[in-house]
Amino acid sequence: FVKSSVIEGTQFEDDSDQETIDAKDILKRELQDERKTLPIYKFRDELLKAVDEYQVIVIVGETGSGKTTQIPQYLHEAGYTARGKVACTQPRRVAAMSVAARVSQEMGVKLGHEVGYSIRFEDCTSEKTMIKYMTDGMLLREFLGEPDLAGYSVVMVDEAHERTLSTDILFGLVKDIARFRPDLKLLISSATLDAEKFSDYFDSAPIFKIPGRRYPVEVHYTKAPEADYIDAAIVTILQIHVTQPPGDILVFLTGQEEIETVDEILKHKTRGLGTKIPELNICPIYANLPTELQAKIFEITPEGSRKVVLATNIAETSLTIDGIKYVIDPGFCKIKSYNPRTGMESLLINPISKASANQRAGRSGRTGPGKCFRLYTSYNYMHDLEDNTVPEIQRTNLANVVLTLKSLGIHDLVNFDFMDPPPSEALLKALEQLFALSALNSRGELTKTGRRMAEFPLDPMLSKMIVASEKYKCSDEVMSIASMLSIGNSIFYRPKDKQVYNSWRETDFSTQWCYENYIQVRSMKRARDIRDQLEGLMERVEIEVCSNASDLDAIKKAITSGFFHHSARLQKNGSYRTVKNPQTLLPRWVIYHELVLTTKEYMRQVTELKPEWLVEIAPHYYQLKDVDDAGSKKLPKGQGRAAL
Ligand code: ADP
Ligand code: MG
Repeated sequence: FVKSSVIEGTQFEDDSDQETIDAKDILKRELQDERKTLPIYKFRDELLKAVDEYQVIVIVGETGSGKTTQIPQYLHEAGYTARGKVACTQPRRVAAMSVAARVSQEMGVKLGHEVGYSIRFEDCTSEKTMIKYMTDGMLLREFLGEPDLAGYSVVMVDEAHERTLSTDILFGLVKDIARFRPDLKLLISSATLDAEKFSDYFDSAPIFKIPGRRYPVEVHYTKAPEADYIDAAIVTILQIHVTQPPGDILVFLTGQEEIETVDEILKHKTRGLGTKIPELNICPIYANLPTELQAKIFEITPEGSRKVVLATNIAETSLTIDGIKYVIDPGFCKIKSYNPRTGMESLLINPISKASANQRAGRSGRTGPGKCFRLYTSYNYMHDLEDNTVPEIQRTNLANVVLTLKSLGIHDLVNFDFMDPPPSEALLKALEQLFALSALNSRGELTKTGRRMAEFPLDPMLSKMIVASEKYKCSDEVMSIASMLSIGNSIFYRPKDKQVYNSWRETDFSTQWCYENYIQVRSMKRARDIRDQLEGLMERVEIEVCSNASDLDAIKKAITSGFFHHSARLQKNGSYRTVKNPQTLLPRWVIYHELVLTTKEYMRQVTELKPEWLVEIAPHYYQLKDVDDAGSKKLPKGQGRAAL
């Protein structure tokens, strides 16, 4: 590594926030003392005064200064919760859960009582709840039931710098209701200094700055670009572990799979290190990590050992882990990208922005001087990284948001008060897609189908599939399918410390063994919860729950009603195309749930389809000639996708 620059930080007196406490049996009193050591504490009264004085405030403060955990408590202590709940939105599910858990601990109350959280398909709140952490998407949905958010006295849109799609839409909605609800307080909080933009948007709202506590961070770059950043990350972890003074390590990876890979390799490699080298505790953290394991990242590292946290972007600003001294930044993250022309959305591993790189580096300098190892060159940093990440609204499918806005009675989308408007092409595409799903009529108004679809917290294609199941009398099965698709790719479990295939071989390939071992009970339970909720919503939209298990075609037709855009046909070379190929023999047609890009584009979760159904179910989208196996060379209307 070349040591090339030092990020200057404000030097702070080293007060008593480093005491080691066993997280398990901290008393509320001790936590109360700890609260007072956070940078934000000194500004408590000033902040409350500002909230009293102004309706909208933009709050900026270094990650870990206490914005998320403390501000809602201050507001509660100052009496705001007597008038209504305090909402605090988070872009990430895990952050909402984790922070709510922490705050309930600090307040000495049971999670879900006075302090709770609400994320899609999981409501951990009660009548008593006064402080509610929630994903930004959930607050957006709450507008559907309560357009003036009457139950809230304060809305804190946290992590505003993340600029998720839901946060951006929330901006427009809360700005609007603040005008006719003068009693509602709005706090927009962010970790970056780009607060002017937020302030401008909210009619020059005052900016409240919480000075950060940041020690200098030494930034190291690689001399040459790394061919394999996973490999480089592992080598760097081991190097730090063996050569550097005590202090925990935080590694930024792009997702669960990478984290599991690194976890596995590290476990293997450290096994042979001998007794002279201290123990290395590996703590993964990502969205689908079971709740019990999420808490592990916050446990204090025992004397004489070192913790290495393998995290997704969640540790960039949403979660602060104390004790991190070394950051390893491979320079990548997974981001959603959308091509409005083809309507294709995929998750891609992309270089991060300079702003992200600096946030990541900063994680190492919270409790003392830190070091950040960037697994790219300083040239890369200077010349290849964008300054900021493009807001999600400009790179995503907007169908869901358009459906939500339409059900809120917002018809004039072009003139909606966006902080950064989405490309008009993407808006048009969303309208087109919703029209094709019969959620909108030709005047762009919500249809009955559209209104019913909007009740479900699902993507429009999934909700259409459910609504269509009424017609095919198979709602029971279709709800199960929707729930299983909603839990993602986590039905099967592969224990990392076991070579699954070999264990299976040892049992002489026993089927029973598979049943006993391969299914994630947790995921199945989650699917069951989701299904229960969908069933509750069925009653609301007055769709009778009925089963038609013997008629597979009916079920597939319901699926096709939602997913007819996602149809593909087998080709001679074994790959699938969304368009027909005249030469193909034995054509097979499928509907897929989603596309995943790895080395190639793969379809995930497919079911077979009879081509004539496309014409039967979506005659406005497909014509007979499109699905004619003899084939013509014309593409289906609106479809111009290349080979998958
Ligand atoms: P900010 O929102 O300004 O980034 P937070 O309020 O999230 O800051 O964090 C304040 C402090 O609370 C940090 O020291 C952080 O480590 C601690 N903290 C937050 N969540 C948890 C948790 N679940 N367990 C233990 N400590 C936590
Ligand atoms: Mg925060």
